[in-house]
Amino acid sequence: MADEMLGRLARYLRFMGFDTAYARGWTDHEVRARAHLEGRILLTRDRTLARQTPGAVGLCSTDIGGQLVEIRRAFPTIPWELRPDRCTLCNGVLSRWVPSPAEPLPRGAPRELVERGLTLYRCPDCLHVYWQGSHSEKVRNLIAHAAQPLEA
Ligand SMILES: [Zn+2]
Repeated sequence: MADEMLGRLARYLRFMGFDTAYARGWTDHEVRARAHLEGRILLTRDRTLARQTPGAVGLCSTDIGGQLVEIRRAFPTIPWELRPDRCTLCNGVLSRWVPSPAEPLPRGAPRELVERGLTLYRCPDCLHVYWQGSHSEKVRNLIAHAAQPLEA
Protein backbone atom coordinates (compact mmCIF):
# COMPACT_ATOMS: atom_id res chain seq x y z
CA MET A 1 0.00 0.00 0.00
CA ALA A 2 1.52 3.28 -1.12
CA ASP A 3 0.60 6.32 0.94
CA GLU A 4 -0.69 9.53 -0.60
CA MET A 5 2.80 10.94 -1.27
CA LEU A 6 3.83 7.85 -3.24
CA GLY A 7 1.40 7.79 -6.17
CA ARG A 8 4.18 7.55 -8.73
CA LEU A 9 5.81 4.69 -6.84
CA ALA A 10 2.44 2.88 -6.77
CA ARG A 11 2.33 3.04 -10.58
CA TYR A 12 5.87 1.71 -10.90
CA LEU A 13 5.14 -1.19 -8.56
CA ARG A 14 2.09 -2.03 -10.70
CA PHE A 15 4.30 -1.93 -13.82
CA MET A 16 6.08 -4.88 -12.18
CA GLY A 17 2.85 -6.68 -11.41
CA PHE A 18 2.63 -5.99 -7.68
CA ASP A 19 -0.84 -5.72 -6.18
CA THR A 20 -0.51 -2.12 -4.99
CA ALA A 21 -3.21 -0.08 -3.31
CA TYR A 22 -2.88 3.70 -3.40
CA ALA A 23 -4.06 5.44 -0.24
CA ARG A 24 -5.29 8.66 -1.79
CA GLY A 25 -7.47 10.84 0.40
CA TRP A 26 -7.47 8.42 3.32
CA THR A 27 -6.85 9.43 6.94
CA ASP A 28 -3.91 7.87 8.78
CA HIS A 29 -6.40 5.77 10.70
CA GLU A 30 -7.96 4.46 7.47
CA VAL A 31 -4.53 3.75 6.02
CA ARG A 32 -3.54 1.67 9.05
CA ALA A 33 -6.88 -0.13 9.23
CA ARG A 34 -6.97 -1.02 5.52
CA ALA A 35 -3.34 -2.13 5.44
CA HIS A 36 -4.11 -4.44 8.34
CA LEU A 37 -7.44 -5.73 6.96
CA GLU A 38 -6.07 -6.37 3.48
CA GLY A 39 -2.76 -7.79 4.71
CA ARG A 40 -0.73 -5.11 2.93
CA ILE A 41 2.69 -3.67 3.71
CA LEU A 42 2.47 0.10 4.07
CA LEU A 43 5.06 2.15 2.17
CA THR A 44 5.27 5.69 3.46
CA ARG A 45 7.51 8.74 3.72
CA ASP A 46 5.67 9.82 6.88
CA ARG A 47 7.90 8.75 9.77
CA THR A 48 5.15 8.96 12.37
CA LEU A 49 2.78 6.87 10.29
CA ALA A 50 5.57 4.34 9.63
CA ARG A 51 6.22 4.05 13.38
CA GLN A 52 2.54 3.58 14.15
CA THR A 53 1.95 0.90 11.50
CA PRO A 54 3.23 -2.62 12.15
CA GLY A 55 5.46 -3.86 9.34
CA ALA A 56 5.51 -0.52 7.51
CA VAL A 57 8.49 0.40 5.35
CA GLY A 58 9.58 4.02 5.77
CA LEU A 59 11.11 5.61 2.67
CA CYS A 60 13.38 8.67 2.58
CA SER A 61 13.78 9.48 -1.12
CA THR A 62 11.61 12.11 -2.73
CA ASP A 63 12.39 10.98 -6.29
CA ILE A 64 11.09 7.83 -7.97
CA GLY A 65 14.54 6.48 -8.83
CA GLY A 66 15.66 6.63 -5.20
CA GLN A 67 12.37 5.17 -3.97
CA LEU A 68 12.72 2.19 -6.29
CA VAL A 69 16.22 1.55 -4.95
CA GLU A 70 14.87 1.69 -1.38
CA ILE A 71 12.12 -0.81 -2.26
CA ARG A 72 14.66 -3.08 -3.90
CA ARG A 73 16.81 -3.00 -0.75
CA ALA A 74 13.84 -3.58 1.56
CA PHE A 75 12.61 -6.56 -0.51
CA PRO A 76 15.72 -8.05 -2.14
CA THR A 77 14.03 -11.29 -3.20
CA ILE A 78 10.97 -9.97 -5.00
CA PRO A 79 10.83 -10.42 -8.80
CA TRP A 80 12.03 -7.23 -10.45
CA GLU A 81 10.82 -6.96 -14.04
CA LEU A 82 7.99 -5.51 -16.07
CA ARG A 83 4.97 -7.82 -15.95
CA PRO A 84 1.58 -7.23 -17.55
CA ASP A 85 -0.40 -8.30 -14.48
CA ARG A 86 -1.78 -5.10 -12.99
CA CYS A 87 -3.38 -1.97 -14.38
CA THR A 88 -1.04 0.89 -13.52
CA LEU A 89 -3.95 3.31 -13.28
CA CYS A 90 -6.33 1.43 -10.97
CA ASN A 91 -4.61 -1.83 -9.88
CA GLY A 92 -7.15 -3.98 -11.78
CA VAL A 93 -6.04 -7.48 -12.76
CA LEU A 94 -5.17 -7.49 -16.47
CA SER A 95 -6.24 -10.22 -18.83
CA ARG A 96 -5.44 -10.95 -22.45
CA TRP A 97 -7.61 -9.06 -24.86
CA VAL A 98 -8.29 -9.76 -28.51
CA PRO A 99 -10.10 -6.84 -30.14
CA SER A 100 -12.75 -7.66 -32.70
CA PRO A 101 -11.96 -6.24 -36.17
CA ALA A 102 -14.55 -3.49 -35.73
CA GLU A 103 -13.17 -2.40 -32.38
CA PRO A 104 -10.90 0.66 -32.44
CA LEU A 105 -7.42 0.12 -31.05
CA PRO A 106 -6.31 2.38 -28.22
CA ARG A 107 -4.25 5.42 -29.12
CA GLY A 108 -0.63 4.51 -29.73
CA ALA A 109 -1.21 0.78 -30.19
CA PRO A 110 0.84 -0.51 -33.13
CA ARG A 111 -1.89 -1.87 -35.43
CA GLU A 112 0.58 -3.63 -37.68
CA LEU A 113 2.05 -5.58 -34.76
CA VAL A 114 -1.42 -6.33 -33.36
CA GLU A 115 -2.44 -7.78 -36.73
CA ARG A 116 0.68 -9.94 -36.59
CA GLY A 117 -0.26 -11.29 -33.19
CA LEU A 118 1.10 -8.83 -30.60
CA THR A 119 -0.54 -9.71 -27.29
CA LEU A 120 -2.75 -7.05 -25.78
CA TYR A 121 -3.88 -6.90 -22.16
CA ARG A 122 -6.89 -5.01 -20.87
CA CYS A 123 -7.99 -3.84 -17.45
CA PRO A 124 -11.55 -5.07 -16.73
CA ASP A 125 -12.20 -2.11 -14.44
CA CYS A 126 -11.06 0.96 -16.40
CA LEU A 127 -10.61 -0.71 -19.85
CA HIS A 128 -7.08 0.63 -20.28
CA VAL A 129 -5.09 -1.47 -22.77
CA TYR A 130 -1.43 -2.50 -22.45
CA TRP A 131 1.04 -4.37 -24.63
CA GLN A 132 4.69 -5.26 -24.55
CA GLY A 133 6.56 -2.09 -25.31
CA SER A 134 3.74 0.18 -24.15
CA HIS A 135 5.87 1.32 -21.22
CA SER A 136 8.18 4.19 -22.03
CA GLU A 137 11.92 3.85 -22.19
CA LYS A 138 12.16 6.05 -19.11
CA VAL A 139 10.09 3.57 -17.08
CA ARG A 140 12.18 0.64 -18.26
CA ASN A 141 15.44 2.47 -17.52
CA LEU A 142 14.42 3.45 -13.99
CA ILE A 143 13.37 -0.11 -13.15
CA ALA A 144 16.58 -1.53 -14.63
CA HIS A 145 18.66 1.04 -12.76
CA ALA A 146 17.06 0.15 -9.41
CA ALA A 147 17.86 -3.51 -9.98
CA GLN A 148 21.58 -2.80 -9.91
CA PRO A 149 22.46 -1.98 -6.28
CA LEU A 150 22.00 -5.64 -5.35
CA GLU A 151 24.02 -6.88 -8.26
CA ALA A 152 26.97 -4.59 -7.54
ZN1 LIG B 1 -7.52 -0.09 -14.73
